[in-house]
Formats: sequence, structure tokens, C-alpha cells
Amino acid sequence: MRFYCKTLFALVLAVALSSCSRELAHYVAPQDNLYPAAETQPVDTAGDAADDPAIWVNKAKPQHSLILGTDKKLGLNVYTLDGRIQQQLPVGRLNNVDIRYGLQLHGQQVDLAAASNRSNNSISLFVIDNSGQVSHLTDIATDLTEVYGLCMYQDQQTHYVFINDKDGRYQQYQLSLSNNTLTGRLVRQFALNSQPEGCVADDVAGRLYMGEENTGIWTTSAKPGDSEIVEFAVLDAWLNADVEGMGIYHYLGQEFLVVSSQGTNSYVVYALQDNNSAIGHFRIASNEQAQLDGVSGTDGLEVTSVALGAAWPDGLLVVQDGHNQLPDAAQNFKLVSGSGLRKLIDKWLP
Ligand code: CA
Ligand code: CA
Ligand code: CA
Ligand code: CA
Repeated sequence: MRFYCKTLFALVLAVALSSCSRELAHYVAPQDNLYPAAETQPVDTAGDAADDPAIWVNKAKPQHSLILGTDKKLGLNVYTLDGRIQQQLPVGRLNNVDIRYGLQLHGQQVDLAAASNRSNNSISLFVIDNSGQVSHLTDIATDLTEVYGLCMYQDQQTHYVFINDKDGRYQQYQLSLSNNTLTGRLVRQFALNSQPEGCVADDVAGRLYMGEENTGIWTTSAKPGDSEIVEFAVLDAWLNADVEGMGIYHYLGQEFLVVSSQGTNSYVVYALQDNNSAIGHFRIASNEQAQLDGVSGTDGLEVTSVALGAAWPDGLLVVQDGHNQLPDAAQNFKLVSGSGLRKLIDKWLP
């Protein structure tokens, strides 16, 4: 009996090890899990299509905030916080999208979304009115040959867009409004050595963070003018190629950079006020109870610490899911409560 148990145990262990050897190759313990609490409707197009989300905070009615998500074969989808598609803007092959606030257009206070448009190598600009209606305003041409990643930066009342080419070049455009017409002026150019995509600007500190997909993360000043590009993180056991989407979560008076490590189907969290140290990493596992599948292969992500009504009191993390299952469907975005992220940060901090 004893021999039988030992043999059985060895057999079970061998089967378990072989069936998850692929995961084990990348797995570095300990790793924590978060779980999706909701998901968006699948995108309308098949294959690798959903890419990058942005969160529009409705300042008057936070529970009516919205998620903007790119479908790189169609354009822009606008989702409610319970994941329903509320609006579709089929304006071209949009890759990445970002949002900033406060622009006076036609005597009305509106907010602004920008997206990299691969159909015409431009920056597509959208306005969001205070009811959450999104409209396509204009496209700002770039002289890049293959636009890819994009993020926005706001310095007081001035809005900027960073857009990169697959070849590594970055361009920074300053947006200006005159006679209700929005234009973009190229104010800075620089380059990384290979293909970047995910980026995020920290408006408070005036810094830009950029993922070079097969190398690591870089940072530079977000203000126009020459500035040094500094290495932030290199690939390691937690951060695996491709380095993808990134966002900043505010908590405990500090800022935490959350980055998609696509190669490990996980996310790394860096403490920006603590020497940019990597404090932990997590996966988004399936929520069996709610029949929501876990997340893998995340491209874009966005995170906010702003309370978005009773359902999201500590903010929201939105991530693209490369394989939407339960049931199998086109790609979508998964929604994860900021409360879970807070608990992990509490656990990780000394
Ligand atoms: Ca990518
Ligand atoms: Ca999934
Ligand atoms: Ca992407
Ligand atoms: Ca699903």
C-alpha cells in the first residue's frame, strides 16, 4: 500500500509537472493573483484585434465613467463600466488610445482622446462631452512611416501627444486650439533602438515611461526640449518580452507603474517613489464564480485610482485579454477592481 501510494504520488507529480512545464519555465514564485470582476463585450473583428484601453473619468457622475478600447481592425469602441458597447467609431486601424481633460471647444468644456491611426499614420483626435458622447474631431498627420504606440501628457492647460514608429522613433506633438480647430505641432523627436509600444506619462512629475518590447523600460522628461533617456528596467524573471501596456496607480501618496509582461502573462508593479523598484508581480486568473476567464497575452492596459461609483471604490484596472474564453469569443478587455491591487501593494510594501 505504501509503495503503491509512493508510486501513485510520483506518477501524479510527473504528469502535473509535464503538463505545466511551459508555465513552470517562466514561473517565478511567489506570484499573486487578481481576478476579473467584469469584462467587455467581445470586439466585432476576429483574431488579434482588441488592443489598448483608456478610462474616461466622468467627474460629475463617476459611476458613469467609460472605457475606450481600440479595435485595430475597425476603430474605437466605447464601453460602459459594465462592459456594454455604447458607441463604435470605425475611423481606421487604431492601435493605442489615451485620454486627457479640459479643453474649451465651441464654448463647451470637453475632454480629449487621442489614438494612433495605422490607416493613415496619423493621430486621430476625439472629443468627449460631459455626457460621455465621443466624437471624431480630426486627424493630425505625422511623417512617420508606421505609427504604433501612443500616449498623452498634460502640463497645466497644454496637451501633448507622444506617438512612436515601429522603427523606434518617437515624436511629441503639442496640441493647440485656435478658432475651434485643433492642430498639432511637432516639438520634439528622439528614438529607442528597437520597437516600442506601450507608454504612459506621469503628469505630476512630468515624466514619460516607454516600453521597448524586447529590451525593457525607459524614462525621460515628458516636457518638450532635449532630455536624457534613462534606463528604468531591463528584462528579468518578472518582466518578459514583449513589454506591453503600462499605467500609473496612485495609492498611499505614491505612484506605482503597472506594466504588462506579455511573455509571462503577468504584470509587474514598480514603486516610482522608491528607486523605481519592482515590488511585486501578479497574474489575472479566472473568476470561476462569475464565469470570467483569466487573462493572457495582454497588449494594452490602463489603471486609475479614482473611485468610479460603488462597484469600483478604489479605481479600476482594464487589460486587453489575448484569449477570451468562457465562452470562446473574439478578444475583449477584462475589468479588475483597484481594491485587489491595493491589497497586493499593502502586502508587498515593507
Ligand atoms: Ca506590441
Ligand atoms: Ca482569457
Ligand atoms: Ca499592441
Ligand atoms: Ca469571457
